[in-house]
Amino acid sequence: MKEFRVNAKGAFKLKDVKADYGSGDKAETKEKLLALNKELEMLQEQLYAEHKHKVLVILQAMDTGGKDGVIRHVFEGVNPQGVRVAGFKAPTPLELDHDYLWRVHQQAPAKGELVIFNRSHYEDVLVVAVHQLVPEKVWCKRYDQINDFERMLAEEGTTICKFFLHIDLDEQKQRLQERLENPDKQWKFNPDDLKERKLWPEYMKAYEAVLRRTSTDWAPWYVVPSNKKWFRNYVVASILVKTLRGLNMKYPKADFDPSAIQIDGTALP
Ligand code: AMP
Ligand code: MG
Repeated sequence: MKEFRVNAKGAFKLKDVKADYGSGDKAETKEKLLALNKELEMLQEQLYAEHKHKVLVILQAMDTGGKDGVIRHVFEGVNPQGVRVAGFKAPTPLELDHDYLWRVHQQAPAKGELVIFNRSHYEDVLVVAVHQLVPEKVWCKRYDQINDFERMLAEEGTTICKFFLHIDLDEQKQRLQERLENPDKQWKFNPDDLKERKLWPEYMKAYEAVLRRTSTDWAPWYVVPSNKKWFRNYVVASILVKTLRGLNMKYPKADFDPSAIQIDGTALP
């Protein structure tokens, strides 16, 4: 899975990652995902029980890229107690009155928690840069600010994994078309997505800058080929399981002798 990690020091090029890449057999890979789901469920229980580490998963993608799909398929089976999704939409007037990390920091995971960011502070150097929602001299400082913010979270015990779900323009066309044609999916279609689609090259440039400047040792980016949903889910689940395994979590040991304890019978006096 190392191949999908953006090297902190390299000159990363997005065009070197093929969005439609996928290795392995589809049915077999789906089976493997089921095993990873089970392991993730166990690791998340340990995370919650141990109450020591904090885990932050950041999902970024173009519209239809599959953020919602990853949340449904990768985290299937985890205990909703201890897992939380925080979605970031266009900021409210109150949020805009604060610095851009204000709303984000509030949603960062606490001890024992796994939090999934569905979009994130990266929108403040993506949509904000593409549409020049603030002047360049303001947003261009944000890469370093974000690195510092994430380093602080990491030093305070947060494990951070960032995923860019990479689809291509053709795949987005098909997915938007499907949303239009399928009455059960029309609720997901937002005519404004077509305006963003026209800005695809600008977005890719903005993503490339993000990936080059903010993939760090303490908060790495993974670029996940995401045209094939089964491959995307498998890659994200594999990286997460591997990362969580690395925390060497343990269920807390009892601070009493269980064999010395007898539970009273049901016929209490
Ligand atoms: P969706 O995730 O499709 O429901 O859309 C959420 C929308 O909110 C997207 O168009 C994002 O670009 C937008 N958004 C999220 N964060 C920001 C931000 N910081 N500034 C401006 N727009 C944002
Ligand atoms: Mg959308």
